[in-house]
This record gives sequence, structure tokens and C-alpha cells, in this order.
Amino acid sequence: MKILAFETSCDETSCAVIEDGRKILSNVISTQVPIHKKFGGVVPEIASRHHIEDVLPVAIEALEEARAGWEDIDAVAVTQGPGLVGALLVGVAAAKTAAWVLGKPLIAVNHMEGHIFANLLQYSDLEPPFLSLVVSGGHTMLVVVRDYNTFELLGQTRDDAAGEAFDKIARVIGYPYIDKLAKAGNPNAIEFPLALRKEHSFDFSFSGLKSAVINYIHAKEMKKVPVSYEDVAASFQKAVINALLEKTMAALDKTKLKTVALAGGVAANSGLREAMEKNCLKRNVRICSPAPGLCTDNGAMIGCRAYYMAQKGDFAPMTLNADPRLPFLAERGKV
Ligand code: ZN
Repeated sequence: MKILAFETSCDETSCAVIEDGRKILSNVISTQVPIHKKFGGVVPEIASRHHIEDVLPVAIEALEEARAGWEDIDAVAVTQGPGLVGALLVGVAAAKTAAWVLGKPLIAVNHMEGHIFANLLQYSDLEPPFLSLVVSGGHTMLVVVRDYNTFELLGQTRDDAAGEAFDKIARVIGYPYIDKLAKAGNPNAIEFPLALRKEHSFDFSFSGLKSAVINYIHAKEMKKVPVSYEDVAASFQKAVINALLEKTMAALDKTKLKTVALAGGVAANSGLREAMEKNCLKRNVRICSPAPGLCTDNGAMIGCRAYYMAQKGDFAPMTLNADPRLPFLAERGKV
């Protein structure tokens, strides 16, 4: 079964052809990152316009790379949400058109579920049940993947996502790669506070930490005391990683699962990967972390998730609409 998958939820226009769920025949990503860089963040209207320009050429390239024609496609998948509504609409319109013209079924995929399923593309032997830590620009959550279509949301952020905090601090410091900067600093130089640490829940909170870092920098600047941005980056990153690590390890204790799958854009952070690997090794728990190319937004992960939805007969109607706040599966039908 060949699925043509569209992903246009934010600033990457991506199309992939996936065979039988796990084989990537092509995964073309056209990034708009350099376009939005000068604005200091993604501008939704500009993102939508670029998706319109890029979506068809990217789909054609994906088919060419997969050595497939439109007639070889068995189903069309698309990210329905969450994401930027204008950006999502472009993918949804393109996918609906392709499905209608080809007379093939349409599959509407949740973007966050797609991120988790990137692990199945990276590790051919990975099967549920497993625990997944999803960390991206918009989301931070701990999910139990019971089987391919049954998820349980253990906890999520109560305010900012981890990625949001990273982006904000990067803007304040004026350097986009906190991960790189942190490597040159001392992670124990500054003690930043962490919320919800002692609470017996799996929820996260990063807005207090974000404010503490910004206040620290401003206070030093006001006093005209030099700031070591390397130390700030390293100490901030350590605090975020510790929060993610503690809750993930507590979730492993509770669920007794023996595999953790990292997912989302922040999963590419080398500090997080190293810390997770070290701690999982100690517990004899398998750690999965997709290659950076599969952590970023991409069509392949959408195609993979769609395959398992198709197995269950979970198809979308032609009246499908984008949903910028599409709930996670576990919240749609309580496990
Ligand atoms: Zn994403």
C-alpha cells in the first residue's frame, strides 16, 4: 500500500510516499526557515503563501523520487492539525483534491501522533507498547502508545512548550542555537527554578523558568555586569532537560514500560538525547530517538501514522476541514 502524505502545519512544506507504513520511498521537505528568520518567528500569512507555491512541486518531486505515478497511490494522507490554520488549509485542500481526482481514500492525521510515529520509520522492529516523550515548539507531552491506535496522555505542559521556551531564550540571547551555545557553558553556573517538580503528576511547566532566565539577563544588563550567555544557555538547558528527564523516568516507573521514544523538533537536542540515553541505559530501558531529519516536520511521519489508521478503516470525508486545535487521539476517545 502506497500512501502520498502532505504536511504543511507550520513552516515546512513536505510530501512523502510511504509503502506499507514503514518504508520511506521519498520524503521531500521544502523549508521556509530562512524566509521567516528575519521576522524572528514564523509569520502565518507568509507561511500560507509559500505553501501554496510549493505544495504541488513538492508533491511531484516526492512522486518522482519514489519512482511512482499518481496512479500508483492507494491513499492520500494529510495533517489536519494542530498547527497554523492557513498553513494547514493548503495541505488539506491539496490532499482532498488529489484524493478526489484519483478516487482514493483520504486520511486525516494528527500532527503530534505523526511525530511519535517517526520512531516507527527509524526503528523497523519498534512495536507498541512504548512510552513517548513529545517535545516540540508547540507541545510537550508524555504519551503511552498502547497499540497502533490506542494512546493514553499521561501529562502535558500547563503553559509554554519546551520548544517555546527554547525559542524565546534564543531570541533574548540573540543566538538561535541554544544547544550549541550550551556546549561551551557551565550547566551548574546558575540555579534556575523549576515548577511542578515535586508534584505527583506528569504535567510540565516552563513559563516560570523562561521568566527567571529573562529576569536574570536583564538584572545583569541593568547593573552593567557582563553576562556569560554560554553559562545561561547551559544552565537553562540543564533545567529543561532535568524536568523532562524526571517526569519521563517517573512515567517509566509507573507504567513499567521498557521503551522510550523521543519525538518532535526538540528531540533533536543533543543534550536531551544524551541525558535520556544515559538514564535509560541505567534502567535497562530502550531509548529510541529518530534522526534529526525525522524529528523535524515531515510528510513521512504523517504517511506512517496514516497507514495504521487505514488498517483500522479510519478514513476522512471529503468535507474534511483543517483544525488548528485538533485534540490528541487520547483526548478524543478516552482510553
Ligand atoms: Zn511538529
